[in-house]
Amino acid sequence: MDIRRIGVVGAGTMGNGIAQTLAVAGFQVVMTDVAEASLQKGLKTLSGSLDRLVKKEKMSEATKADVMARIATSTEIASLADVDLVIEAATENLDLKLKIFAQIDATVKNDAVIASNTSSISITKLAASTGRPDRVIGMHFFNPVPMMALVELIRGLQTSDATYAAVEALTKAVGKTSVQVRNSPGFVVNRMLCPMINEAIFALGEGLATAAEIDEAMKLGCNHPIGPLALCDLIGLDVELAVMQVLFEGFKDPKYRPAPLLVEMVEAGYLGRKSGKGFFDYQ
Ligand code: NAD
Repeated sequence: MDIRRIGVVGAGTMGNGIAQTLAVAGFQVVMTDVAEASLQKGLKTLSGSLDRLVKKEKMSEATKADVMARIATSTEIASLADVDLVIEAATENLDLKLKIFAQIDATVKNDAVIASNTSSISITKLAASTGRPDRVIGMHFFNPVPMMALVELIRGLQTSDATYAAVEALTKAVGKTSVQVRNSPGFVVNRMLCPMINEAIFALGEGLATAAEIDEAMKLGCNHPIGPLALCDLIGLDVELAVMQVLFEGFKDPKYRPAPLLVEMVEAGYLGRKSGKGFFDYQ
């Protein structure tokens, strides 16, 4: 499989970061979204991110122009007709992704690969909804995509070795490191990270220590660059809760039950940095 032209579906937080990473590495990218406004916003974010590299003299103006020229945008799925790979990075919703997968499957070439950046939806289930289950895979990038080195490559039950090898080679070609993960709730990183954050919230709820002390303890005691509660504020308390629910429902194991304080804070609208208040104040 020779991957040259790549489609990115969804121009949000992850989609524009993925498009940037691919274009910087020299690939031709077609970025699509349902809304023209989302495409324009995504392009603006991407351009601003490249501007920061130019300012730091890590990229020339001419290179930036070349990178931008490699990215086409469209609100039409039909614009993906001749890509070799599509990376779907649209809103996290099963019904929406099934709809998008059907559209992509009907549009792209027979031998094209379809990848999803989903954080929680079963790759096996997405693959089964297409006529090419062996050519479907998970490519789980991390936020912010241009900065983060890891991509978890998620193998559905049907994913072929050839698909895996092609996507692994692409991941390397864009300067990222991959780990191979079997399809399973939370994959590897969220399976470990989110329960740790959840446990910090249980500890806070029990009055074990203050939020600041819990974070200080994990920073100095474990050499973590950021405390679990500050990290949860960054990720979003609603996102942390959604991942815990996926783990809890996926494994039916009470060790993954969301901390009551997390549930209550989400009910209150305390979602972390994005709402101005979480475990810490950002007003
Ligand atoms: P986002 O809300 O920032 O962006 C989603 C984009 O999808 C929006 O621009 C929206 O207009 C677009 N969209 C909605 N319906 C569409 C359709 N039918 N066709 C094309 N585009 C459509 O979301 P995000 O944070 O970028 O998340 C995207 C995916 O990446 C999700 O599956 C999420 O689970 C996953 N993910 C997110 C993170 C993160 O930290 N944000 C990390 C890893 C993976």
